[in-house]
Amino acid sequence: MKPWLGQEEIDAVTEVIASGWVAQGPRVARFEEEFAAAMDAPYAVATSNCTTALHLALVVAGIGRGDDVVVPSFSFIATANAPTYVGARPVFADVDPLTGDLTAETVEAALTPATRAVIVVDQGGVPADLDAIRAVTEPRGIVLIEDAACGAGSRYKGRAVGAGADVSAWSFHPRKLLTTGEGGMLTTANAEWADRARRLREHAMSISAADRQASVLAPAEVYTEVGFNYRMTDLQAAVGLVQLGRLPQIVARRRELAARYAELIADIDGLRPVRDPAWGTGNFQSYWVEVEPGFPSTRERTMEVLAEAGVSARRGIMAAHRQPAYRDRDTGSASLAVTERLTDGTLILPLFHELTDAEQRRVVDALRSAALLRGAA
Ligand SMILES: *Cc1c(COP(=O)(O)O)cnc(C)c1O
Repeated sequence: MKPWLGQEEIDAVTEVIASGWVAQGPRVARFEEEFAAAMDAPYAVATSNCTTALHLALVVAGIGRGDDVVVPSFSFIATANAPTYVGARPVFADVDPLTGDLTAETVEAALTPATRAVIVVDQGGVPADLDAIRAVTEPRGIVLIEDAACGAGSRYKGRAVGAGADVSAWSFHPRKLLTTGEGGMLTTANAEWADRARRLREHAMSISAADRQASVLAPAEVYTEVGFNYRMTDLQAAVGLVQLGRLPQIVARRRELAARYAELIADIDGLRPVRDPAWGTGNFQSYWVEVEPGFPSTRERTMEVLAEAGVSARRGIMAAHRQPAYRDRDTGSASLAVTERLTDGTLILPLFHELTDAEQRRVVDALRSAALLRGAA
C-alpha cells in the first residue's frame, strides 16, 4: 500500500498552518459534515484513529463489564481490543471463507446469554452481509457496530457500508484508502450517541475548545463525566477533506487494478483471489489471494518466490485468538477453523493507486513461477 498524496494536500496543510488554528476546529467540523454526507450517515464525529472511535462506540452504546461482544478473530487486533478497554469480553466468531467477514451463522454460533454487541468488520474492504446479521441481533436487542476501518468507498446494497449499523468506526491510517496520517471517524444515526461521543473525545467538556476560543470572555466549561482526548487536528482534517474528494477516483482505480489481477491470475490453478460478494462492491483495500491446498507452493514459499523477484507481499489478515494478548484469555468456544485456514493460507498482493501495468505483470509473473515449483515446497 502507498497513500496517494499530492500538492493539494500540501496546500491544504499550508493553509491551516497559516491560519494559526491547528488543533481540532473548523476544518474538523467540515470534514465531519462532508464525511457524513459521503457515507450516508446522519452524524459523524472525528477521532484520533479508528481504535479510539471503536472505544467511543462501545462507551456510547453502554457496553461494559460483564458484557460479551462478538468479534471476528480474523481482523486487525484493534477490533478485539476495543471491547477489552471497556471491561467487556471479546467473544471470537468465525468468518465466511469467501469474504473473510462474519456471517449470520457464525455470529449466531458465538452468542452467549451476555452478548450485548457484535462488531462486524468489512474485512479488507469486502462488505459484510449486514442485513442478515441484523436479523440475528435485532430481535435480541444486541447492538450492531461496524468496524468499517477498511470500508471507505465500499458499497452494501447500494449504500455506503457502515450506514446500516447502529454505529460505525472508520480509519484514516495510511494503510487504508483515505488517509490523514492517523485519524478516525465515528458515524451513527443516533443523535444522542453522536453528541456524547463528541463530548467524550474532548475530555467530556461541555464547551468545545474551538467554541471557547471564539468568544472573548469564554464561559466556564464543565466536565460532565470522565472523558478522553481522542481529537483529530485541523491539520489532519484538511488532508482528509482533499482525500475524501479523491475517494471515487481512488476506488475506481483500485477496482480496475483488482479486475486486472483477477484476469491475469485466472489461469493459475490453486490461487483464489478475493471477489465482490453478491450484495455489494468492495474498494479492494486489500487484494488478497488464497493459496489453496492444490497449489504447488505453500503460502510461505510463494511469499519467498515473490520476494526473490523483488515483490513485497504480506501475509493475510491476522487471527487475534492466536496472539499472546488473547491466547490465554477466555474468548468463547466457537470454532475458528475458517479463520485459521485464511490466516495461514492467504497473502496480500501489492495494490496502490500508482501501480503500473508492468509492475502488476511482474507480480503475476512471480506468482506464475511459484506455480511451477511442483514438489519443491
Ligand atoms: C486498521 C484497522 C483498525 C485500526 O485503525 P486505526 O485507525 O489504526 O486505529 C481497526 N480495525 C480494522 C479492521 C482495521 O483494518
